[in-house]
Amino acid sequence: MSTTVTGGTSLTQQRNLVTEIPGPRSHEKLARKKQYVADGVGTTLPVFVEAAGGGVMIDADGNTLIDLGSGIAVTTVGNAAASVVSRVQDQVAAFTHTCFMITPYDGYVDVAVALAELTPGDHAKKSALFNSGAEAVENAVKIARVATGKDAVAVFDHAYHGRTNLTMAMTAKNMPYKNGFGPFAGEVYRVPMSYPFRETAGIKGEDAARRAIEQLDKQVGAMNLACLVIEPILGEGGFVVPADGFLPALAAWCRDNEVLFVADEIQSGFCRTGDWFACDHEGVVPDLITTAKGIAGGLPLAAVTGRAELMDAVHAGGLGGTYGGNPVACAAALGAIEEMRAHDLPARARAIEAIIRRRLEAIAADHPVIGDIRGRGAMMAIELVTPGTLDPDAARAGAVAAYCHSQGVVVLTCGTWGNVFRFLPPLSIGDDLLEEAFDVVAEAFVATA
Ligand SMILES: *Cc1c(COP(=O)(O)O)cnc(C)c1O
Repeated sequence: MSTTVTGGTSLTQQRNLVTEIPGPRSHEKLARKKQYVADGVGTTLPVFVEAAGGGVMIDADGNTLIDLGSGIAVTTVGNAAASVVSRVQDQVAAFTHTCFMITPYDGYVDVAVALAELTPGDHAKKSALFNSGAEAVENAVKIARVATGKDAVAVFDHAYHGRTNLTMAMTAKNMPYKNGFGPFAGEVYRVPMSYPFRETAGIKGEDAARRAIEQLDKQVGAMNLACLVIEPILGEGGFVVPADGFLPALAAWCRDNEVLFVADEIQSGFCRTGDWFACDHEGVVPDLITTAKGIAGGLPLAAVTGRAELMDAVHAGGLGGTYGGNPVACAAALGAIEEMRAHDLPARARAIEAIIRRRLEAIAADHPVIGDIRGRGAMMAIELVTPGTLDPDAARAGAVAAYCHSQGVVVLTCGTWGNVFRFLPPLSIGDDLLEEAFDVVAEAFVATA
């Protein structure tokens, strides 16, 4: 096996089931969870994890599962990656918190330097750090409003931007993210996304962009629009890769109309798509970019990075938070970024894409329920439909997921109709383990046919 396995190399990289999934010890722990943890906090695969690394997770019953989810695109460098662990251990022993707004420290500034170097564009950039993706998105909107003196925010169909009040308004899907939680923040306008599988064959990215722009022109007006916020590849919404030309056309319109182009790269960023950021694939340079998830190897950290003059538009004290850019989380981010650079993880994501595509194409050839294979790098998906139609088949997706889970492969679904599988392995997974995981996915389609 010639692949680079970064995090958690001490764990045997092989699937091994010694009980049913979940096993008896996980069942006991689930009962305790049921009694003390709010039911609103859901569970995809109810095993309790005790160790994880490379591409595996070990549960409380001693089962070794293969991880194709990375905790939702978070453990990109693997769980417990060596450089993350050592930097976190050093930092936690030195000091755990001062509040950067009271007395600063190097780790925060070092992360801002790395973000300036790595994010798209070679203009002068500055960053502000936060705890969660939703918080970063909220702050990007705050910055855009102050910098432009305008109020309105444009978002897209199928978008996911978080679960706080403003980001719920920006998120498209009602159930489970919004239902009953309103009233929502105002001045958020939704326009059509480019979704190649679900629209007239051959519609060009530029045409899809024109459709969205026309709607913004007529219903909002660029003179009222502070920013357009877009995931360059939809995350929760189904890993939809917009048609070529869609993002550049939107970015050009924003530039011509003094509307800030905000890329929400919280899920797609940090090597996931085979480049440092998904915007890089088409050379799109956002005015502001939000990052989180993969940035810090599992510790909570998020950022808004943008043109220095925009970031500086906000008055002193207007941005921040008690924990934003916590020193331990910053140490983890510096470790994760070191890992990404040292092992050329964008290239690793492209190699993973080649394996996943080959496997998915072979499965799709036998199972026409797979209507679309899409994605970039280690952010790949399949959409399940009644064969030959666009009718979503969420029931089959649920059955395939349940089979994979019972066989010790952690898979996640997504999409507006819940009929999309998203494959997000840690980039530390080995080739053999990845192949084994897709053996199980292939079996799952046969078993549920
Ligand atoms: C996960 C996600 C968010 C929200 O991040 P949290 O850390 O869960 O608040 C926002 N945008 C995108 C694209 C995401 O995938």
